[in-house]
Amino acid sequence: MARVCWICEKEVPEGTPIRRDVVIRFIREMKRKLGILKGNELVVCPAHLAAYAEKRKRFERNLVLYATAAVLIAIGLPILPLLMGAEFNPMVIVFALLLAAAVFALSLLNYVPALEAGKKGGA
Ligand SMILES: [Zn+2]
Repeated sequence: MARVCWICEKEVPEGTPIRRDVVIRFIREMKRKLGILKGNELVVCPAHLAAYAEKRKRFERNLVLYATAAVLIAIGLPILPLLMGAEFNPMVIVFALLLAAAVFALSLLNYVPALEAGKKGGA
C-alpha cells in the first residue's frame, strides 16, 4: 500500500497519518462504490506539516462560522415570520432545516481532516 501525502499528493516514505473520521470514511466509501478508490494510506509528510497546520486552522475557523450560520438559519428563519405576525407554517421549519444543512455541508467542501495524534507512519 502506497503512502501518499495529503498536501502534495506524492508518494512519501514517511508521514503522520490522517485520522479516518466519519467524513474521510464516507468519502472513501463513495470512492469505493464509484471504483476510484486507490487504497493509499493518507499521511502528511514532514515537509508539509506547516502547510497542513495552516489549512487545518483555516478549516476549523470556517467550520465555526458555517455552524453558527446554520444554527442562526435553523432558529431564525422559522421564528422571524412569527415575530412579524405571520401565521405558523411547519413548512418553514423544514425549509430552514434543509437550508441550514446545506450551509453546513458547504463547509465540508474544503474538508481538512485531523491528524492521528502521537502516531508516525513510515520506516
Ligand atoms: Zn507532502
